[in-house]
Amino acid sequence: MSLVPLGSAKARVLAGCATLRPTAVPLPDALGCVTSVPLIADAAVPPFANTAMDGFAVRAADTADAPTTLTVVGTLAAGAAPDVSVGPGEAVRIMTGAPMPPGADAVVMVEWTTTAEGGGTVVIERAVAPGNHVRGAGDDIQPGQQVFPASTVLQPGHLGVLAALGFRRVPVFTRPRVGVLSTGDELVDEGRDLKPGEIRDANRTTLLALVRQSGFEAVDLGIARDDPDELRAAFVRGVEECHAVITSGGVSVGDFDYVKVVLDELSDGAMQWMQVAIKPAKPLAFGTIDGTPVFGLPGNPVSAMVSFELFARPGLRQMAGHPALERPRVRAVADDGLPRTPDGKLHLVRVRADYGDDGRFHARSSGGQASHLLRAMALANALALVPDGEGVAPGGDVEVMLLTSA
Ligand code: AMP
Ligand code: MG
Repeated sequence: MSLVPLGSAKARVLAGCATLRPTAVPLPDALGCVTSVPLIADAAVPPFANTAMDGFAVRAADTADAPTTLTVVGTLAAGAAPDVSVGPGEAVRIMTGAPMPPGADAVVMVEWTTTAEGGGTVVIERAVAPGNHVRGAGDDIQPGQQVFPASTVLQPGHLGVLAALGFRRVPVFTRPRVGVLSTGDELVDEGRDLKPGEIRDANRTTLLALVRQSGFEAVDLGIARDDPDELRAAFVRGVEECHAVITSGGVSVGDFDYVKVVLDELSDGAMQWMQVAIKPAKPLAFGTIDGTPVFGLPGNPVSAMVSFELFARPGLRQMAGHPALERPRVRAVADDGLPRTPDGKLHLVRVRADYGDDGRFHARSSGGQASHLLRAMALANALALVPDGEGVAPGGDVEVMLLTSA
């Protein structure tokens, strides 16, 4: 079977990952979702002019000859309606966030004032200009203004802006619900002792966490034995309950890989069984069952994670309406070099990439590079993309994909 270049494999995956329908979700649930339409303000933020400081609301003209004594005619706390107005020679004690009283056009901060005993008068020690420490209505957002365009990935700050505007629900693309299945007779879930030949299931925990960390809803589909009926039941459940299904194991060419038989049957032959020109994560199955994307990732834990990063995550992000599908890439110095031998494949080397005092990223291997060495993957924060050839000499440049940011 000829090797499929990474770009072509990714293109095949993306072609099967249609963006989910727009919906409206409660604001607190919208973190990480992507807006489906531009969001327009129907109110001003701040809604009224208010003070940025604790102090005295005054008429700026009254302070021109400071020091000057003004009569204190009231007090305004944050949350109070402005029930007093400020006439010539008058001032109102005012707390940060309280509305500017009618008549006042400036605030003198409390540090520049001396209040007379009894609080009936205040000495203003310095002159201020109109608008001093006043936050104008609509300073941040004007009614009718586009607040965020469509395709905005909602972060905590965005949610705060929408809360300030009174949004209760937000129009976004549906957040993908992603089922994760492990396959293999050797896998053990519960905490009991292992029998000969058994191993613990690492992939499901990892992939469920990657799904959640990527901002999607994760559904645990458990472990299916290498048994056609069990696999069929698990996939049918996954496709019914989820927008996408991720399975690991059984996608290479072993004798008991019934995953292929079952997925071919359920997809009416639409699954694509690829050997991608990369190392690790060469085998990849992808297709749709009744329109639901199914990602068949390799069983080796490192390969499963790398395959998730290269194929599943971009596909799921496209389903979620994300404008940018890929992890960011930077150029880094391979301090110790990243040697390899030619084999026709792009190597994805597990590295730690750290930003150095010299203003450049520096990448170093995080450990052994075999595809069962999950600990070295866990210690990595980036994948170095080492093209086919002899690798990178010490001090040479290499492109790295940062796994820790969007
Ligand atoms: P397979 O792709 O099913 O041939 O599996 C390749 C290798 O990955 C074998 O050594 C499996 O035991 C191992 N493997 C498969 N699934 C898992 C899993 N969920 N957790 C840990 N190792 C796994
Ligand atoms: Mg297997």
